[in-house]
Amino acid sequence: MLVEREPALLARASLRNQARVHNGYHYPRSLLTALRSRLNYGRFLDEYGDCVDRSFPHYYAIARGVSKVTFAQFTEFCRRIGAPLVSAPSAVKRLFDSSRVDAVFEVQECAFDADRLRARVDRELRDAGVGVALETEAVRLRTASTGGPMTVVTRGQGGEREIGAGLVLNCTYSRLNRLLADSNAPIIPAKHELTEMALVEPPRELAGAAVTVMDGPFFSLMPYPSRGLFTLSHVRYTPHASWQEHPGAPSVDAEARLATRESRFTHMVRDAQRYLPAMSGSRYVDSLWEVKTVMPRSEQDDSRPILLQQSTTHPSCYTVLGAKIDSVYDVEEALAETLGLAAPAARHIAQSAPRGVASLRGNESLISIVAPLATDATPAAVEAFVDETVAMLRRTVTHYEIILVDDGAPAETTDRVRALLARHDFVRFLRLSRHFGEETAITAGLDVAIGDYVIVMLPNMDPPALIPEFFERVRSDADIVYGVRLHRKSEPLWYRAGARAFYWYINSVVGAGIPEDSTQFRCMSRQVVNAISQIRGPDQYLRLLTSYIGFRKQALPYAPINRTGQPTVRPKADAAHLARALIIDHTTHPLRLVLRLGMIAAAINVIWVATGPGAAGQTIGSALGLFLLTMMIGTTGEYVGALARRMRDRPAYYVREEHTSSVLLREERKNVVDATRDGS
Ligand SMILES: Cc1cc2nc3c(=O)[nH]c(=O)nc-3n(C[C@H](O)[C@H](O)[C@H](O)COP(=O)(O)OP(=O)(O)OC[C@H]3O[C@@H](n4cnc5c(N)ncnc54)[C@H](O)[C@@H]3O)c2cc1C
Repeated sequence: MLVEREPALLARASLRNQARVHNGYHYPRSLLTALRSRLNYGRFLDEYGDCVDRSFPHYYAIARGVSKVTFAQFTEFCRRIGAPLVSAPSAVKRLFDSSRVDAVFEVQECAFDADRLRARVDRELRDAGVGVALETEAVRLRTASTGGPMTVVTRGQGGEREIGAGLVLNCTYSRLNRLLADSNAPIIPAKHELTEMALVEPPRELAGAAVTVMDGPFFSLMPYPSRGLFTLSHVRYTPHASWQEHPGAPSVDAEARLATRESRFTHMVRDAQRYLPAMSGSRYVDSLWEVKTVMPRSEQDDSRPILLQQSTTHPSCYTVLGAKIDSVYDVEEALAETLGLAAPAARHIAQSAPRGVASLRGNESLISIVAPLATDATPAAVEAFVDETVAMLRRTVTHYEIILVDDGAPAETTDRVRALLARHDFVRFLRLSRHFGEETAITAGLDVAIGDYVIVMLPNMDPPALIPEFFERVRSDADIVYGVRLHRKSEPLWYRAGARAFYWYINSVVGAGIPEDSTQFRCMSRQVVNAISQIRGPDQYLRLLTSYIGFRKQALPYAPINRTGQPTVRPKADAAHLARALIIDHTTHPLRLVLRLGMIAAAINVIWVATGPGAAGQTIGSALGLFLLTMMIGTTGEYVGALARRMRDRPAYYVREEHTSSVLLREERKNVVDATRDGS
């Protein structure tokens, strides 16, 4: 029996939405949701092909600078989920403002027609003999203290009625807690938004195309087939109000909020036309208003799992919170599993007794490990590092990837890495075209990492056993947690002395604020990685960039290991280049220093000549002057050279090959959770 309070089925959120049949592109920050969308997309098109509109081209543009995903990350992400991506035709690209948009792609994504879906569902329910009571509200659930079947109290045109039920599915979307609260059942933490999507006639220049700008406070223009119009939505302006529902929070009358509304079309279109000037030609027709309900956990990573939760007070009642139209397939499988049915029989669940929801599926965050492999990376050390890291990651999260960046590692090491690709899932191997140096190799890894959290590690010295601690600290109260070595035992004396002098100069004189003895070992949130990836220069120095970008930081002291038994030092040339580049890039202090020295020397020289030091003294004075002059010219030359390097603006590195051990996520992983907040 299906009970619906509206006069028709699919008259609420399933009608008043963006009508996008998601094919994964929309979720670069939640790989699991993206991958499930990819899987469900094909199935939805097979089964409901007559209810979708595939006639329009769809373009995804990646915003420059402020996007949460960069052009390179988006490309890599689509490759990983196997989503087709081609560059948009030049005529389309020209429509965008190139100073605000990095790239424009043509993608495969279509729109559903809610009216046609309703007609299909009506017919299918009738054929299956399912009773449908329209304009009937489920007001309360009752479970006898002795157990047994439940009673659902409904209210319709004929007044209140009681219906006995072996199983109740509470699929009331934004009103999910109304039924639970009125049944004295604990409510489910949820976030609601009062949303507006403007219905518009699109600009002529777009010739009926859909446009989505990623990934942040941008807009989407999508066909809305059931009205022959387009929806214009904007991440910043579509939500008019939001509120949380959790135990103790004041209750909000969402229906009343829907009644007070004033369109924000002007804001939406003004912002949209900054990226796509032709948007100024869109004509407002109407607005779709709806309460959108998401789980609080989706706030951070933009994931859209579907919720399936058993009530503790009414065990025969399950709440299902939909996330997207086609995620119904995810819950179909999860329900079948929960009720102990074979998946195809899930359509006949009404006669079955519930058995308890499958346990919560671990932590859904994805961790990327970025590890550069330098010239001193030995096969045994890399193998041990990968084995230990995989073991630690498996204990920590469900989803992860290890990105090994070959920065001139010996041939036997790269051969061993190929063997590791065959042995472990989720290992990626990025081979740079030559040895660019540790910092550039890390930059290359960060550019392609797709994790919600990224951990940088040097295989030779960073212990994988600390991964959980780094990760937990970033998840709880920091944006960056960086390692600080407790000792430098495996470094020769000259290197330690050099490091001391470097830290003294860069911190005490220059004031760069690089924590002394900090290492590359660090865990960063996606926000931090994106901030760092936006900074481009010939010499990227992670520790300096980390200090520059701000965010909340925490130090984690640890004892480095030494897998190779060799001194853990950068090659001398790399170390000297880095120290020089850092000092020159960061400050003009050396220029000022030689200028002062020159002035002091000149003054001494004048006094000396005036007091008549003799021919030998004059020669010494001239030699000293020449030496200082050379120093000044040399130092100035360094700055001019640094400037020239920046002006050349060429790529910091080139990738020779890339290998991946397997698809990142297995198909059988389900995008279903049994709590709306981690741990609740
Ligand atoms: C602004 C917006 C944009 C979106 N864009 C997309 C998109 O592009 N693509 C996508 O796939 N998804 C999108 N979604 C999400 C999608 O709309 C929802 O995930 C989906 O519609 C949820 O389906 P549902 O059946 O759970 O909810 P609904 O379709 O809202 O169905 C719930 C039904 O329960 C009824 N009801 C409530 N309480 C009771 C009661 N006590 N008794 C009887 N009946 C009751 C309601 O009347 C309603 O008909 C969007 C949502 C919003 C709000």
